[in-house]
Amino acid sequence: MANATVFLGMITPAGRVAYVTPALPAEVAISAAAQADAPVQAQYRLAGPCVTSRCGFWTGEHCGLGERLVASYAETVGDPEVDLPRCAIRRNCRWFAEQGPAACAACAHVVTDAR
Ligand code: SF4
Repeated sequence: MANATVFLGMITPAGRVAYVTPALPAEVAISAAAQADAPVQAQYRLAGPCVTSRCGFWTGEHCGLGERLVASYAETVGDPEVDLPRCAIRRNCRWFAEQGPAACAACAHVVTDAR
């Protein structure tokens, strides 16, 4: 899994993630948000390393958040046809490793509303 927190993508006005490739350090997004005087999570998605048992979502065997995310997305839109986004961390992504391409369909909708 990823070793350092990275700048994964930008949040579009439509509330989707536009992935940034190649990977950039998280500091790039943090610095841009500071200059805009806005919370970083309102404009950017960051991805940190998986900490397994040190995370409340860890089930003991896999990431419960990724599992819930995919299940919830499937309930809402059915089985998605996935056009895999160009994502810089796919090789190291736990959600993708455990849930497959369905994780990517749901992932693009994961944003934090900081209002
Ligand atoms: S779920 Fe897919 S799009 Fe999201 S971070 Fe993992 S590989 Fe990238």
